[in-house]
Amino acid sequence: MIPVQFDYLAPTSVEEALAALGEHGDDAKIMAGGQSLLPVLRMRLNAPEVVIDLGGISSLRGIRDDGDALVIGAMTTHHDVRDDSLVKEHALLLSKAAAEVADSQIRHRGTFGGALAHADPAGDLGAPALALGAQFVIAGPGGTRTVEAADFFVDLFETAIGDDEILVEVRIPKHTGWGAHYEKFVRVAHQWPIVAIAATVKGSIDEARVGLTNMGSTPLRATATEQALAGASATEDGVREAAQLAAEGTNPPSDLNGAADYRQHLARVLTGRAVLKAAGA
Ligand SMILES: Cc1cc2nc3c(=O)[nH]c(=O)nc-3n(C[C@H](O)[C@H](O)[C@H](O)COP(=O)(O)OP(=O)(O)OC[C@H]3O[C@@H](n4cnc5c(N)ncnc54)[C@H](O)[C@@H]3O)c2cc1C
Repeated sequence: MIPVQFDYLAPTSVEEALAALGEHGDDAKIMAGGQSLLPVLRMRLNAPEVVIDLGGISSLRGIRDDGDALVIGAMTTHHDVRDDSLVKEHALLLSKAAAEVADSQIRHRGTFGGALAHADPAGDLGAPALALGAQFVIAGPGGTRTVEAADFFVDLFETAIGDDEILVEVRIPKHTGWGAHYEKFVRVAHQWPIVAIAATVKGSIDEARVGLTNMGSTPLRATATEQALAGASATEDGVREAAQLAAEGTNPPSDLNGAADYRQHLARVLTGRAVLKAAGA
């Protein structure tokens, strides 16, 4: 289908984009890489009168070292997150997860901030961001504010970003030297996961962080597994026992790809695999 007609704005600064959002309110929609927005417009699930394209705002692209954190601009593509040497050194989990997003074409257009703002519970970047304790820097008419990952994902396709606000960058606390693995379970290649597990571990194993994709309306942490793994040795039996706790407190959907109890089974099995691979065992 062809989208309904809209006006197209291409601001060159965040201030200009915020002013356009303020002027057009509910009639406007932000566009980043367009990889989720354009299909939605083509299916006429949304019909904004104005599309505000962030593609011309160069300050929103790139990855920089900021002491104890990496700062990833919202318009940085999945491809650049995957290949960046700082990300590989200090937040390997993100590089591994970005490599699993869709296919090469989409990874070159789709953006880190766009995917997180879209908040698809099956999206591959929410769980790693949550597991790494990301902080979301959001700009609005009154200035910028920072939201912790635990408060950013509100519900299905809903985040803490207000209608008059823009996600500008994401701060990722450094996890230098931590092992990492993103275990994604799909029916066909290059698709959203039925379930996926984002695991990163320090040593073998001093500390573990485990994020769950598509196990509820938002990304989740497998906190019971994380507690069971802290100080445990990375043996196959020990890790698989801790992984049995991975589905605790989850509320996954039932759909054509799998029933909720099947997803919970997958979460337990995949968590074992992901943690063992992250620990290099
Ligand atoms: C065929 C196909 C397969 C895919 N497979 C996967 C997959 O396997 N895993 C996966 O994770 N994703 C997948 N995706 C989605 C892809 O990752 C998109 O890149 C991502 O979901 C959206 O990023 P975007 O930059 O394209 O955002 P857009 O599509 O431009 O925007 C998405 C939404 O976020 C809002 N938004 C964007 N940026 C901002 C911002 N800075 N501030 C405030 N709001 C903002 C927009 O208004 C819109 O509502 C797939 C997409 C396609 C088309």
